[in-house]
Amino acid sequence: MLVSLLVSVVGLVLLTVLFTEMYYSGAISQAEGQLKIYMNVFEGEYDSSAAAEEEAARLSELLGGARITLFSPDGSVLADTQSDTSENHAAREEVAEALESGEGFAVRSSSTLGTNMIYFCRAFPAEGEVQYLARIALPVSSEVAVFTDAIPTLIWFILVDILICLLIAWLATSFILRPVERLTKEAATSGGEVSTEYSELKPIAKMMNDMNADISDKMAKMKEDRRLEKLILGSMEHGIVIFRSAEDVILINKTAARLLDYEQNEPVRAFTEDREIADILAAREPASVYRKLEGRDYNLRFTFKEQSSVLLITDVTESMAAARSKNDFIANVTHEMNTPLTSIRGFAELIAEGGIPPERIKGVAKTIIKQSDRLSNLIRSIINFSAIDSDELPDYEVDLTELVRETISSFEPKLSQKNIALKLDIANGVKVMSRRERLLEIFNNLVSNGIRYNKEGGTLTVTLTGGEHPALSVADTGVGIAEEDKERIFDRFYTVDKSHNGGGGGFGLGLAIVKKLCKRAGWKLSVESELGVGTEFKIEF
Ligand code: ADP
Repeated sequence: MLVSLLVSVVGLVLLTVLFTEMYYSGAISQAEGQLKIYMNVFEGEYDSSAAAEEEAARLSELLGGARITLFSPDGSVLADTQSDTSENHAAREEVAEALESGEGFAVRSSSTLGTNMIYFCRAFPAEGEVQYLARIALPVSSEVAVFTDAIPTLIWFILVDILICLLIAWLATSFILRPVERLTKEAATSGGEVSTEYSELKPIAKMMNDMNADISDKMAKMKEDRRLEKLILGSMEHGIVIFRSAEDVILINKTAARLLDYEQNEPVRAFTEDREIADILAAREPASVYRKLEGRDYNLRFTFKEQSSVLLITDVTESMAAARSKNDFIANVTHEMNTPLTSIRGFAELIAEGGIPPERIKGVAKTIIKQSDRLSNLIRSIINFSAIDSDELPDYEVDLTELVRETISSFEPKLSQKNIALKLDIANGVKVMSRRERLLEIFNNLVSNGIRYNKEGGTLTVTLTGGEHPALSVADTGVGIAEEDKERIFDRFYTVDKSHNGGGGGFGLGLAIVKKLCKRAGWKLSVESELGVGTEFKIEF
């Protein structure tokens, strides 16, 4: 608007100047024409014999009050209808011209009247000599006056011009901006592709579409990232809390919320109610605490960043149990070793002191040998048990049918000792991917238990089935296992009847070894038993 206003105002002023000029020169030539007519009238009417002053006055009246001046040929004033000056006018432009060429025009501000005048002077000769000169003058407006007169009109024009410029500027901008506005609106509401029929806007529309697509891609990626984050955090079995204070939780996943009993928009109670945790939060030094939550052991690890703090809750039940069981294991081993060792040492001391009559020495020596065997059995069992974890030897196909048939014969003496009948139902060619020593360990343990916990004159049934899923079962008709002991018999050093210890019973490692081997191989080990009726152990390979 400002630019068009400036251009049009400059145009208007220039036009006014131009029109002033045109008007002025028009007015001058019109005045010249009029003066010529006046001069002709003057020429016809002038009586040179009459008094110059009077003649000039008469003719001035005749010519509507035009100023008439008469000069003698030397330029001195003979008569002037509007001035009394006696100044010589020979040097005046129109007079000088008339003296030279008979006629002369001039426009200037009259020095005698002070107004702008147009002068026309003519020399009147007689017999080749200038007799007198007559000059007729009419007032004319000056150029400046013409322009000044035009100024109010010019101002009106400029005001109208401002209005027109405003209107045009408004129309032009709205005309130009309407498609842009439409485009923006479309982009804001549609969310998809924007289009325009204006070729000038096409690059912008394309850019917007490209940007839109880019943003959509980024949004989709961000959404996917958030979804993934949520999924990861939600499915994490670890609890995680990112917080500024107990009242200002930034992020908490499901596990943490559940374990800490956290309710949305409420402070985390554990952070304020648990003294130890409150102290850690106050100190802002990385630290861990152990808590039993929902019956399991958890490690609560606090770390601190500039503004936020992070709590990671990890389930350490297994590792704690492992640590505990390691301690139990050591305690059990030392206990189990201590019993035979004390016995051996006691008897040996008695012999050394000569406190045993010679006829009993043989019996005592047998006890010492028995206890030593027990000790080495224990050590062997422990070695076997520990060896399973480090056993990385490759599997191969073991003929289980052959292994069972071969091995069972070695139990003949024990079976007949207890008068136990052996029933075999062995399928042919049953093969299992494993190692011979592992299967042997399992089989020996199950069969020796089946004999050890059997009744006098009972039965031991060994069944091996083939097919896609081979299975081995060892069933006895012995003491059976109480329901509450069924799970625990597989624990290390667990024996149902402690009176077995030190006697014919084992150390409670046999079934633990069987279970560990089955677990490692991925076999299913199950037990079915009824107190006083019998027990069946089954392995499905
Ligand atoms: P142990 O060396 O004491 O036999 P095991 O690990 O082999 O150790 O067995 C653990 C316990 O399970 C035994 O002490 C016994 O009480 C019980 N048990 C194992 N096998 C049988 C079975 N066939 N009949 C009854 N009880 C059994």
